[in-house]
Amino acid sequence: MEILFITDDNSLKIPSDDRYKLVTTPPDQIEVEKIEGYDMVVVDARNPEAQQIVKSIRQSQSDAIALKPVFLFSTEEIKDMKLQCLSDGKTDSGEPLRIVSHANEISRLVSTLKEFKPENFEISAMLRILRFLYTRSIQLKPMILPTYRYGYIYPFAASQFSDDEDFRIYEILVRLEQEGLLMGNFYDRIHLCNRCRSAFMNFREICPSCKSANLSVENVIHHFSCGYTSEESKFTHGEQLICPKCNKILKHIGMDYEKPSTIFICHSCNETFQEPLVECFCFYCTNRTPVDETVSWDIKTYEITPAGVNCAIHGIMFSFAEFLSSQLDLVEYNDFKKMVDLEIERNKRYKRESSVAVFQVSNLQQIFFEIGEKKNELALEMAKIIKDALRKTDLISVLNESTFLLLFLETPAKNAQIALSRIKNNIEKLLIPNLSTSGKKFIPQITTNVLPVEEFSLNKIFP
Ligand SMILES: [Zn+2]
Ligand SMILES: [Zn+2]
Ligand SMILES: [Zn+2]
Repeated sequence: MEILFITDDNSLKIPSDDRYKLVTTPPDQIEVEKIEGYDMVVVDARNPEAQQIVKSIRQSQSDAIALKPVFLFSTEEIKDMKLQCLSDGKTDSGEPLRIVSHANEISRLVSTLKEFKPENFEISAMLRILRFLYTRSIQLKPMILPTYRYGYIYPFAASQFSDDEDFRIYEILVRLEQEGLLMGNFYDRIHLCNRCRSAFMNFREICPSCKSANLSVENVIHHFSCGYTSEESKFTHGEQLICPKCNKILKHIGMDYEKPSTIFICHSCNETFQEPLVECFCFYCTNRTPVDETVSWDIKTYEITPAGVNCAIHGIMFSFAEFLSSQLDLVEYNDFKKMVDLEIERNKRYKRESSVAVFQVSNLQQIFFEIGEKKNELALEMAKIIKDALRKTDLISVLNESTFLLLFLETPAKNAQIALSRIKNNIEKLLIPNLSTSGKKFIPQITTNVLPVEEFSLNKIFP
C-alpha cells in the first residue's frame, strides 16, 4: 500500500514498513491528478490549506481521485468540522496502520463501482453523493455553520458545487429522496429569504399601518369605578397611578383596577394596536417579507437505500435498457453478432439485402431524470414506438444504457432508414412537448445510422 502524506513538517518521522510505503510531499507541490496512484492520502490538518486540499480532491472529475480515502493528521482535536466531514477520519499517532484497514474497506467498495460518466452536471453530482455514502457506509448529515448562507451545510454535497449555486444541493437531495435513492429523516425546519434563500434573517414585530419596527408594548389599565381603559403610561404620574378621566388615585390592583391585556404603541405614527404584524428582514439582500411568505425548508439526515446502492454501483438512475427488456425480446450483443454473421452468409447465397442500424439517445439519463415520476409511462411509450417500427423477425440488442443496435432482416438500407427515421421522429414528438418548458425547448440528442449488413462493425456503425 502506498500512502501519500501531505505535510511541510520535515521533523515528522513516520515509521514505514513493508506493509506500506509512505511518500511525503509538501502542500504547495501537490498535484491532485497524481493522487490516483496512491492507495490513500493523509493530510496534515495543521496546515492552513488543509481544507482547500481535501476539497480539491473531493471535487476532482475522476471518481478514482474524488473517492480516495483521505485522512487527517493531527495530534490535537480538529475544530474545523467541515474539514472533518470531507475526510474519512483522523490519525494522530504518526502510525498510519490504525487507519489502513478503514482505507482498505473504502478502496474495496470503490473498486465495485462501474465506470459511468454522466454528461449532465446534476446527475453527476447526485451520483457522486450516492457513491460517497455507499463507499463510506455513512449517512449524509447536516452541520450547523453560522457563516454559511443557509445555516446548515452538508459538507460533502456542498463540495460538489460552486459557492454561489449551492442551493441546488438542497434541491438535489429532495430529488434523490423522491427517486427512492436516499431516505430522509427530519432534522430541523429552516426559514429562508424568498428572494435570495438566505437564512440570515431578522424576524421582528412591525406597526400594521406604517410598517415601522419602532414599537413598545404596554399594559392596559382598566379603572373599575369609572370604567376608563387606556395604556399604563397615561395613568403614570411619578410613583402614582392617577386616572386621566376621573382623577382618582389607583391603589390596589384587583380592587381599584385591573390589567386585562397589553397593547402595542408605534412611536413613528402613534398608532396603538393589539396584534402587530411579523415581518422578516433579510440581512443579505434587504428584502422585507411577511413571515408566512418565507421559504420553509426541511433539513434532513439522509441514508442511502438499497436502490441508491444499486445506482451508486452501476451509475444508472433509471435503466431504460432493463425496462425495454421487459417489453421487447432483446438479444445479447454476442448473439446479435452471430446473427449478423449468419445473415451475411444467407444474403450472399440468396442474393438478398439486410441491414444493421444504430440508434442512440445520448442524453437519455437526463431525460429520465427531468421527467421524474412519469418515467415509466414515458419509457412505455418509447418502447411502443420502437416495437411498432420493427417486424417480428427484426432483432434488437442493447449496447449500453443509451445505445441500441437493430438488425432489419431482408430490408435494404434505404428501407431500414425509413423505419429508423420513424422511430426518431416519433420519439422526438413524444419527448419535446414532455420536456420543454415555456422558456426552453428541450432537444433530445438522437443519433442514427444504417449500414448494409455485410459492412457492419462497431467502429463503422457509429457516425
Ligand atoms: Zn406606525
Ligand atoms: Zn377613572
Ligand atoms: Zn434575501
